[in-house]
Amino acid sequence: MTIIASLLSEARLPDSPSARLDAELLLAAALGKPRSFLHTWPERVVSGEAAELYASYLARRRNGEPVAYILGRQGFWSLDLEVAPHTLIPRPDTELLVETALALVPAAPARVLDLGTGSGAIVLALACERPLWRLIGVDRIDDAVALAERNRVRLQLDNVEFRESHWFSTLGAERFDLIVSNPPYIAARDPHLDEGDVRFEPSSALVSGADGLDDIRLIVSAAPAHLNAGGWLLLEHGYDQAAAVRELLARQGFEAVESRRDLGGHDRISLGRLPC
Ligand code: GLN
Repeated sequence: MTIIASLLSEARLPDSPSARLDAELLLAAALGKPRSFLHTWPERVVSGEAAELYASYLARRRNGEPVAYILGRQGFWSLDLEVAPHTLIPRPDTELLVETALALVPAAPARVLDLGTGSGAIVLALACERPLWRLIGVDRIDDAVALAERNRVRLQLDNVEFRESHWFSTLGAERFDLIVSNPPYIAARDPHLDEGDVRFEPSSALVSGADGLDDIRLIVSAAPAHLNAGGWLLLEHGYDQAAAVRELLARQGFEAVESRRDLGGHDRISLGRLPC
């Protein structure tokens, strides 16, 4: 007979930076209960079946697989999202993009585009906070579009639409008041690609040329043709790319160009406004 408390204290995840949290999330999932259940019922006996499922989850985690992919779920903003290995796992850092977009653009009706939407995390968070906005999320990968659409349906958000598109490729002459993106921005040879969760994430969502800026260059140069006068472009980027991204925005004619820091103190997003 095994109880919850000992299954948690005996979990061995030596390579995980968040071992205790991982074990709790995996055991709660194996039991089909919320995490709070573990703290309320530490002495509860766990069935053989649930214990076995938990052991298989731990083995996958020991092999480096991200908890979000094992569970097929990840929290972002106020949302519980389905995630899968063909999309990036939404990061807390990216909530800065959502927060900044909400602060810049009024709650009045606006047209909003999310480029490379993946699981739909950013655009669904915005849609949930701003019922008057009309939003589109695009992704080049059809599996990502299908996943984002499943998240939309489950969250019952009717003001968002998802489309397959490589950046602006299928958007014709459509214009928006706000364009947001968390594009791939890691340099092709960055050694960080061989560590932690990113090893399991799709390189199409991570890697962008020799300096990591290929896609950001493309987006910045194409964005003015898809923004209304006074419209905003907000981009997430690497901790050491802020100056380069601000320079690209300024050269493209954007005004009010600035960067904002994430909770770790790194410049994580840069933004600019098309002149009125
Ligand atoms: N923030 C992710 C990481 O560094 C990368 C995400 C991205 O390339 N858009 O792990």
